[in-house]
Amino acid sequence: MSSRSDRPEVSIVSPVFDEEAGLAALVERVVRAVEPVADSFEIVLVDDGSRDGSWAEIERAHARDPRVRGVGLSRNFGKESAIVAGLEAARGDAVIVMDSDLQHPPALLPELVARWRAGAEVVEAVKLDRTGQALGGRLASTLFNRVFERLTGVDLVGASDYRLLSRRAVTALLALPERTTFFRGTSTWIGFPREQVPFRVDPRVTGRSRWGFRALLRLALNGITSFTPAPLHLVTIGAALFAVFAVVLGVQTLVRFLQGDAVTGFTTVILLLLIQGTFILLGLGIVGQYLARIHDEVKNRPRYLVARSSPPDREPDARR
Ligand code: UDP
Ligand code: MG
Repeated sequence: MSSRSDRPEVSIVSPVFDEEAGLAALVERVVRAVEPVADSFEIVLVDDGSRDGSWAEIERAHARDPRVRGVGLSRNFGKESAIVAGLEAARGDAVIVMDSDLQHPPALLPELVARWRAGAEVVEAVKLDRTGQALGGRLASTLFNRVFERLTGVDLVGASDYRLLSRRAVTALLALPERTTFFRGTSTWIGFPREQVPFRVDPRVTGRSRWGFRALLRLALNGITSFTPAPLHLVTIGAALFAVFAVVLGVQTLVRFLQGDAVTGFTTVILLLLIQGTFILLGLGIVGQYLARIHDEVKNRPRYLVARSSPPDREPDARR
């Protein structure tokens, strides 16, 4: 180990949620990949309130190799918060975020470090394909991704959370004040010289994915509301269209009435009411989404709470 062991050159940050079975292999493969290319490094494993033996596994890894450090959150705060916790704990000149389930191949680590050495401040690993997804799901997600990319400038499908940030980029990212973070988006938003490295997502070795439909929907909503007010403008545009429609229909009805041809059609009235109701509720819902975001931000609660760390901190504290 180098003499600068208190400030390693490279930090690898990985959020851990119920990954007990794969952690030892992760550490081993990351060490094997990074050791030859970095002067010094540390692995920061953030236990995001795992219910299995992940924390014990992290402590064991630290005992075997002190370059492995653990941060244990007080409960499950979600991957986004765990990443922030890891970024704040990391001390390296370059920080690499990767999943702890070995779906992000450690073999790519030397390439990320090399690009950083060559001057890139953000190096994104971009997915070549999506393994383990049915065709229907793939079509739906492609469509959704197109819309999402247009709205936010973030390619959700291709982009992954596997990326390297320079110290400057990490500082910029952590300076963003929002509580609800969206790492893939904000780490693109900050700018700085960036490069992309393609990779193939490995299938999960152990355990299973925790991203159900609802979690993905939440991530998408969060991404949209944190990046663009476009849906709010859409409501306004919808209202304007309705106003035009109302005037045209009103004039037409009036003309026919004056010609002694009163409009009939109970069905038309019912349909119009239903359509109108739908649009009004949809508009309210969209406004509500943004209101919920504001509510979350205004509460200004910490993004996560640290319950324990390995090696033990002198002052276990709650960081924002
Ligand atoms: N993860 C986490 N907190 C959570 C859910 C997941 O820290 O609440 C971690 C998990 O341990 C893994 C990464 O986030 O390292 C990605 O999770 P997962 O493999 O379930 O997602 P997918 O690969 O399907 O996108
Ligand atoms: Mg995974």
